[in-house]
Amino acid sequence: MNTPKDIRDLSFEELDGYLKSVGQETFRAQQIFEWIYKKGAVGFESMSNLPLDLRQRLRQDFDLKPNAITKKVVSEDGTTKFLFDLLDHEKIESVLIPTATRTTACISTQAGCKFGCRFCASGIGGWSRHLSCAEIVTQVLHVKEESQKHKRPLSNIVFMGTGEPLDNFDNLFKAIRIINSDKAMGIGARHITISTVGLVPRIKELARQNLQIELAVSLHGFDNASRNVLMPVNRKYPFDELIEACRQYVKATKRQITFEYILIKDVTCTPKAVQSLKKALQGLICKMNLIPYNPVSEFDHRTPSRQEMLTFRNRLEECGIHATIRMPRGRDVAAACGQLRHAHLEK
Ligand code: SF4
Repeated sequence: MNTPKDIRDLSFEELDGYLKSVGQETFRAQQIFEWIYKKGAVGFESMSNLPLDLRQRLRQDFDLKPNAITKKVVSEDGTTKFLFDLLDHEKIESVLIPTATRTTACISTQAGCKFGCRFCASGIGGWSRHLSCAEIVTQVLHVKEESQKHKRPLSNIVFMGTGEPLDNFDNLFKAIRIINSDKAMGIGARHITISTVGLVPRIKELARQNLQIELAVSLHGFDNASRNVLMPVNRKYPFDELIEACRQYVKATKRQITFEYILIKDVTCTPKAVQSLKKALQGLICKMNLIPYNPVSEFDHRTPSRQEMLTFRNRLEECGIHATIRMPRGRDVAAACGQLRHAHLEK
């Protein structure tokens, strides 16, 4: 049987198929999933309820190694950021974000990013490759282990790290099925958020699948012209087409959509932006997550004052658009998307 080398690249069914091919029964797949995803095993030797010859066979056929941690930084607010070194020495980031009500893992889906948003450190170095299912779930396992050390069970997953999750659709959904499965990590679909730059065909596909997963769309512009400047992807999937796809998604799934919207002084939080958003989002079940710009040296943007942000939020609310300002987390450890990786690459 031609199997992937890392055992975490296998779905439960694929693992079961492999085990059957070597004369084992389904309950062994259950045991192995428990060792990897519930107990955090990073070697086959520790799987003490498996027969010795099966452990040897697994060792021969698969890898089960932790990612090498190149850097781990802990913020004053508890946000913990990891920089991982993959087997081919690509670097990826993951973040543990503890708040009063939840403990969230922010996970990367690609090494680098091809979308080059004009405020984001991840896009600066370009795109290298998709991450495999194993590389995605291994990040979650690392963050989960760290959260358990602090007696904070991992409750939420957001795919908002480096890369565009929906551009790596198959590996992402294979990983999500493992993260979601009660046989593995058992994190509920409603506690998993996919953030997309706005790939219209993929949003339509998600609408057809009617999953319970949360969808966040990086809007970041208030009309076609402003989004063209900040997000090159808008030239392929223009603002109006994106909003229409979001309307179809909400209609098909009956689920609220979240718009991520960056607050850049004199660019995105202006009275003109409020009026344009009011018109574009009228009648759409949505909320807006307002994200204060986190400075990146390559860009000239400035962060608005606290008062400017509050005024913008209040104006949106007056227009019937529910909006909250996302409190910046881990600023002292470069927790914004791609900053740690970018600093490492620059070095
Ligand atoms: S915001 Fe997301 S899609 Fe845009 S460059 Fe950064 S990682 Fe890529």
